[in-house]
Amino acid sequence: MPLPEKALIAQIRRLAESARQGQAGKSVRPTPAVLAGIGDDCAVLRLPAGNDSLITTDFTLEGTHFRRNWHPPEVVGHRSLVRGLSDIAAMGGEPLAAFLSLALPRNLPQAWVERFMRGLLRLAEKFSVTLAGGDTSESPSGILADIIVVGTAPKDKAVLRSGAHPGDRIFVSGELGGSAAALVEMRSRPRSKLDPRDYPRHFYPEPRVELGRILREKRLATAMIDLSDGLSTDLAHICEESRVGAEIESTLIPRARVGKPRREVDPDLARHGGEDYELLFTAPPGKRIPAKIAGVPLTPIGQITRRRKIFLCSAEGTRSELAQHGWEHFRR
Ligand SMILES: [Mg+2]
Repeated sequence: MPLPEKALIAQIRRLAESARQGQAGKSVRPTPAVLAGIGDDCAVLRLPAGNDSLITTDFTLEGTHFRRNWHPPEVVGHRSLVRGLSDIAAMGGEPLAAFLSLALPRNLPQAWVERFMRGLLRLAEKFSVTLAGGDTSESPSGILADIIVVGTAPKDKAVLRSGAHPGDRIFVSGELGGSAAALVEMRSRPRSKLDPRDYPRHFYPEPRVELGRILREKRLATAMIDLSDGLSTDLAHICEESRVGAEIESTLIPRARVGKPRREVDPDLARHGGEDYELLFTAPPGKRIPAKIAGVPLTPIGQITRRRKIFLCSAEGTRSELAQHGWEHFRR
């Protein structure tokens, strides 16, 4: 049974409050940053003194970012929020509150919304993020979820895309291409269901919030971005904003291992596939970067150059310009 709007909001509020409650018996108390949340005309946030606020907004659209027959509702809820949390991570920030606007088709089963909210709120709870407001509406076709995440970083300390200098080394966290590999698999066999455990980076990506915060605190990163569009495209964003170029060693790009039995993804997926939500950052030449931070492996893959082009170097020593195939190429 679909829900009329008023009942839907009440239900979302109830789910949000019970998620906040955690174990039974604990009273619902807003986190210090959120003085008023769902139920008022506006949310009231009080950010810690001496902090800048970080605000990011992301659409999740049925047919573009997910398909109902490929992605369980919990996965859609989780992934919608990950996009915002990952943007906060990319600035070295701390997420505080999220706002969710949902447009739902009239015939959408109530159970879908409940399961979507469960996936979203489970992740929110894990990162102590309060769902502090939003809106609902009927959609003429397809599900739309728009998420805003608000976070903080100490004044003037957020890590921008524009801070890379020639000579800086380029690092990525984790492994790349795992999310795109799941899409390729689902597209080639549309009727079979993938086991989310075989493709964790696609179904339940983990935003690298702790890693981003530590890189900012220890001043290890000069520029940073999260890998949502794919390495080739996101590296180009850093180069553009920093007015520099880059050289990447093809063989150094860490390739995800997916499927059953596990196999390494195609190098092209690691270079261009999006939605891995790993962090790409640059570090000054003299800085020692640990092999792992917050349990996440960090791999040097190249360096920033003065010449404003991006090259891919092969093991044989050949150099070719790295085209930005972009994520759209794989998604369509
Ligand atoms: Mg981003």
